[in-house]
Amino acid sequence: MKLDIRNLSFEELGSYFESIGEKAFRGGQVAEWIYKKGVWSFDEMLNLPKPIRERLSVDFDLKPNTIAEKKISQEGTTKFLFDLYDTEKIESVLIPTATRTTACISTQAGCKFGCKFCASGIGGWSRNLTCAEILTQVLHVKEESLKHKRPLTNIVFMGTGEPLDNFDNLFKAIRIINDPKGIGIGARHITISTVGLVPKIKELAKQNLQIELAISLHGFDNDSRNVLMPVNRKYPFDELIDACREYGKATKRQITFEYIMIKDVTCTDKAIVSLKKAFRGIICKMNLIPYNPVSEFGHKTPSREEMLSFKNRLEEFGVHATIRTPRGKDVNAACGQLRHSAMSEKNKMTPNEIQSDVI
Ligand code: SAH
Repeated sequence: MKLDIRNLSFEELGSYFESIGEKAFRGGQVAEWIYKKGVWSFDEMLNLPKPIRERLSVDFDLKPNTIAEKKISQEGTTKFLFDLYDTEKIESVLIPTATRTTACISTQAGCKFGCKFCASGIGGWSRNLTCAEILTQVLHVKEESLKHKRPLTNIVFMGTGEPLDNFDNLFKAIRIINDPKGIGIGARHITISTVGLVPKIKELAKQNLQIELAISLHGFDNDSRNVLMPVNRKYPFDELIDACREYGKATKRQITFEYIMIKDVTCTDKAIVSLKKAFRGIICKMNLIPYNPVSEFGHKTPSREEMLSFKNRLEEFGVHATIRTPRGKDVNAACGQLRHSAMSEKNKMTPNEIQSDVI
């Protein structure tokens, strides 16, 4: 199989051209065709001499994904199901709202972490996505949004998988997404959501990037988080909160805590008291996510009144909280509803196997 050219950083692209006796600036031209003009073949790169285009086709792949399914929800959220070369399947979502146009991107085929409310971990984990596979999703979603005359404004790494568990490929892709000569989306408009991998959060703090960090907290103390998120046994609640505090101090950036509202489980009086205590000294806001039903779990979504009252009580306690509007629920594109529906059972690990191994 040929290397996908979208796996090359801009420096690597320049070096490639030098290695074949061409000028490095050709790399910039190729990048512009791929990331700005959105072409899917070397033939279309008209300002490159034909022999170079032919050479590129021999050395690299630049294919679109196979779209296995495209579903559009009533409010315009579009979910793509893509087939990858090895029959793995991943999902990406275009979310247009009044003020922004967001691409929700997957970083792994499946998920290792087995959170007890999320569909993405049910089918287990197969593999990391390559830098090219991450970028190709963005290119498809961008193409779709441009059809509706809406330039992409935001990227959220909230699709299937754990972004910080695929650190190198993710950051290679982010550099191209962020680069004005690439997709050109400002760092502050790029959000990484994580289950809370403490060493990676510490590593991120050192890099002092301007990207947004969102932590899937979901539990209000160690016990409640242990029940909902097996990863908490490896990186307990207090350690995670400490890492977030340090992250805020080092980067001066506000962290977002994502907190799922599950009836009688996470929306309780005890939760409010505990969260207020935990957030002491952290510059943060809370993004409350109404639980989106996943049939395998027995949870219930609280009523609208219960959710509003939970939010208001948090705010009275001095915690800044917003409620996330569910998007794409009717096409199973909302948070936690993206699945790993891969066909290749052979390599797949179930969350339980992985927990003893990795977590
Ligand atoms: N692995 C990363 C990226 C996924 S982001 C992470 O966990 O942060 C997807 C977001 O949707 C996470 O905050 C996740 O916890 C949340 N989520 C998962 N299942 C959900 C559900 N059933 N209802 C609402 N939100 C859910």
